Amino acid sequence: MEKHALWACLGGLASTVAVSLVVAAFGTWTGFNLFSFSLWFVLPVGAIACGAAALSGFYLVSHRTHLKPGWWMIAPLTAFAAVGYVSIYYLEYQWLTLDDGSHAADLVSFGRYLDVMLSSQEMRVGRGGQAGFALGEAGRWLAGLQFVGFMIGGGWIYWALRSARACLACEQYLRERGSRPRFFRNADQANDYYGLFDHDVDSDEFARKASLGDPKQGKSLTEMMIRTQLLDCDGCHRQLWIDRPSVFNGKEWRELPELNREVIIPPTTNVARFVRGNGLPSWLG
Ligand SMILES: [Zn+2]
Repeated sequence: MEKHALWACLGGLASTVAVSLVVAAFGTWTGFNLFSFSLWFVLPVGAIACGAAALSGFYLVSHRTHLKPGWWMIAPLTAFAAVGYVSIYYLEYQWLTLDDGSHAADLVSFGRYLDVMLSSQEMRVGRGGQAGFALGEAGRWLAGLQFVGFMIGGGWIYWALRSARACLACEQYLRERGSRPRFFRNADQANDYYGLFDHDVDSDEFARKASLGDPKQGKSLTEMMIRTQLLDCDGCHRQLWIDRPSVFNGKEWRELPELNREVIIPPTTNVARFVRGNGLPSWLG
């Protein structure tokens, strides 16, 4: 457990460093700080996204090593978010070259740089951020808001780990083995597929029904869509078959959560061939 916790922290450190470098380099070259992007003045979406990206390494390693979320994680996640946030400003300070070719870092302290930079920063509004105006004193408040956004992004990583599906039998995180959408012309066709688990998973009829449903939405009117996702436990090799139906009302797809189903496939059978290669890439696999 301790060993996995250490690896998770190293993963978090690696992604924090990588994101800091990328955001600071992008800011230095383009003059646009990605994490200063906000919506409706107060929603720091850029900061939230950067915070989540910075701590994504922590999530990936924890998920890989089946590290369960615990309160102890708050400390390293907070520390990485803080370090990531400050190091973006620090890297930009180190890389800032003035018009006369001199380096800002040779002329002013980091503290003074932050003071000047934050009170003269511009607020970017809307998509593309064309309209900008100087904020003055409010820049410090905005920086505080961005820091909170960065922390929210880090907190989201913790939440994602808490809500990651784990095997009921051996408590290991489940991995996605594949997913595919199934489009049906009408409810009758969808119903035919829905009877899938009336048959033994090793039977020919199961194989036939498991292949039903066009993976692409055809030009003809499609009424029903069922998204199949297959999760797999590394420990006991049980698979979890998840179906989430949606119905098309002529304008948009509406989910039917009351018809969602989850079926545990016995460990002796591998049904991955029925969901692979048709849908989204299995990026968690
Ligand atoms: Zn298991």
